[in-house]
Amino acid sequence: MTARPELVAEAASVTFSAGFGGRLRTHALRGLTLRVGGERPAITAVVGESGSGKTTLLRLLLGFQAPTAGTVSFGGRPVAAFGPAERRDFRRRVQAVFQDPFDAFNPFWRVEHPLVAPLMAFGLAPTRAVALEQSAAALAAVGLNPGETIGKYPHQLSGGQRQRVMIARALAVDPSILLADEPVSMVDASLRATILESLWKMNRERGIALVYVTHDLTTAYQVADVVLVLYGGMVMEVGAAEEVIHRPRHPYTSALVEAVPSPDPQVDWKLGDGREAAEPGRPPALGCPFAPRCPHAMPRCTAERPALFRTDAMRAAACFLHERAAAATPAAIQAAVAGAEGGG
Ligand code: SF4
Repeated sequence: MTARPELVAEAASVTFSAGFGGRLRTHALRGLTLRVGGERPAITAVVGESGSGKTTLLRLLLGFQAPTAGTVSFGGRPVAAFGPAERRDFRRRVQAVFQDPFDAFNPFWRVEHPLVAPLMAFGLAPTRAVALEQSAAALAAVGLNPGETIGKYPHQLSGGQRQRVMIARALAVDPSILLADEPVSMVDASLRATILESLWKMNRERGIALVYVTHDLTTAYQVADVVLVLYGGMVMEVGAAEEVIHRPRHPYTSALVEAVPSPDPQVDWKLGDGREAAEPGRPPALGCPFAPRCPHAMPRCTAERPALFRTDAMRAAACFLHERAAAATPAAIQAAVAGAEGGG
């Protein structure tokens, strides 16, 4: 498989300022280093509650949000320095699927329009007839019957079908990377598995790297190679999905996992259990963001920010309980997991 360009966030931070003179500052993301795509495209689940920084991370990777510190690059070039041609190429190669499939459609256009239009705009189909053929192939690839889909209006499809049209739209332009923001949260439970399987196949069969942003640990575990847990704009834990979910090393991940003691595939394993009351988006200015809720908090936890420590070969946790381990970055853990799965 040909190596595809890598999307890299390097020590990227995003800070929002508000109030007179910008005195109120919110650190939406703090010093995140993450790699997506490249030689071993994996599925990375970014798990977090509302306010954890996951939406900001997605906007950063899509080039919609500039970092206030650090860089975001694609194919070795900073996204901020892209000229019109590079930006256009980036827009094709890095595709997104969002939470609400209905929002993404114009109710007056037939559902093939969002597939045909980008194929023509990116010069990937010489005629509308060819674009329609390519659209039909993309719809079939996500399990839809093109004959029963093309020609319909959005309201004539179910929520699950609309979301699959959106995935087909991303697939049609031959992307390197797909960033999926809660793609199954508004879809019936019975259809979630089908949609997640379409995403999984895009990765395994076509080598498209996937970032799956979710607040649902169950689906993250089902689909991801790497799980990255965000809290207060910081990575709390990152590692192979099996390790993070079954043997968590960070107190926050442990609390999340313990919230459902015996996972039942019929039960959603979500983070919306009232924890939002602790306002994960507004962690203390100093120290560990989880300190106000942590049962293991020590005096230093409110004064110093823990680094990410490599607790195991394929996992790291940002907690002083593991400070004897060497420091690591999420990118190093992603590489270790990809290496193990690729047999390297
Ligand atoms: Fe808890 Fe301290 Fe570890 Fe943060 S660094 S998770 S407060 S023990």
